[in-house]
Amino acid sequence: MKQEIIQDFTQAELSKLITPSFRAKQIYHWIYHKYATSFEEMKNLPKELKKTLNENYIIAPLKQVMVQNSKDGSKKYLFELHDGHTVEAVLLLMKNKQYHEDGSVKHQERYTVCISSQVGCKVGCAFCLTAKGGFMRNLTAGEIIEQVRLIKKENAIDANRRVNLVYMGMGEPLDNLKEVVQSVKIFSEEEGMAIARHRQTISTSGLSSKIERLGKMELGINLAISLHAVDDELRQKLMPINKAYNIASIIKAVKNFPINDRKRVMFEYLVIKDVNDDMHSAKKLLSLLDGIKAKVNLIYFNPYGGTEFKRPSDKDMKKFQEYLTSRGLHCTIRESKGLDISAACGQLREQELENK
Ligand code: SAH
Ligand code: SF4
Repeated sequence: MKQEIIQDFTQAELSKLITPSFRAKQIYHWIYHKYATSFEEMKNLPKELKKTLNENYIIAPLKQVMVQNSKDGSKKYLFELHDGHTVEAVLLLMKNKQYHEDGSVKHQERYTVCISSQVGCKVGCAFCLTAKGGFMRNLTAGEIIEQVRLIKKENAIDANRRVNLVYMGMGEPLDNLKEVVQSVKIFSEEEGMAIARHRQTISTSGLSSKIERLGKMELGINLAISLHAVDDELRQKLMPINKAYNIASIIKAVKNFPINDRKRVMFEYLVIKDVNDDMHSAKKLLSLLDGIKAKVNLIYFNPYGGTEFKRPSDKDMKKFQEYLTSRGLHCTIRESKGLDISAACGQLREQELENK
């Protein structure tokens, strides 16, 4: 009999699959609050039900095969799927725990988890290591969910603690729209991890038609666009997908996308030395985003063995940022979180494959 991953289901779906249906809530609690990794642990379930669950469902679809710790407190994980493929996820420590003078906790650590949506990627961006290995397959919603659940478990992050999610690991989320949307819903389940939709950000290389479709779903999630270049000619060289969906089509799709009043669409701009770090590009970027509630996130290109591209200088990066901010555009430079553990996704997996 074919077994399914139990994390593939929303609570409503699960309650249709399980009899009696109220058990679905208990199961959800075991999985997402107590981080159970076997059905046997679920003490308040009848023996018969545990047996049925065991026969029909998988509860541990991922196995941790490697973890790297960064000096800044971030951790990068490599997970193996049931068919032997591997994907990466990263726990980013955004803010340390802080205390009041009397020793009481002012605020807890703030975490963001960066998750993968595919094994490999079809988009084939010239600068991206994930693309080099080609495309293997889509992840199911449950395999996406499990990355976060395992990271929370392993780091003893309480079920009720807020975390932010970014679909910025391996793969193109909108190329796996169905499973990604399903995972957004499961992440936000009240009885599950209860990660609010506005704490989830989907990053895309710009599949305009899918952005439109995603927008119509009104999920309440945030959108990030990997722009990286301001004219079609250069963007096409860096990102072949630009032939199918050019910059104008992306801008149009973004303008139609429903955005939370307090939020902005993030435009990621991977800065590569002598390729797109010039002031002419900064100027064009400014005019391109005119009329959009946007923020720009500049990313240092993170070099790896065999790439022709180079990391930009701090000076050019600052200059680029200052040009935009002084003209009223929100612009941040992505801190090179976990740079010492090769943070750009795809890099840990590559290392593991080389070692094999
Ligand atoms: N496929 C989606 C989401 C995953 S890629 C997308 O492209 O948006 C997540 C981010 O990692 C992208 O913005 C991508 O440009 C960036 N990235 C890829 N290779 C990188 C590298 N070598 N250094 C720094 N960032 C990189
Ligand atoms: Fe795929 Fe994103 Fe890498 Fe491009 S940058 S190849 S879209 S994962």
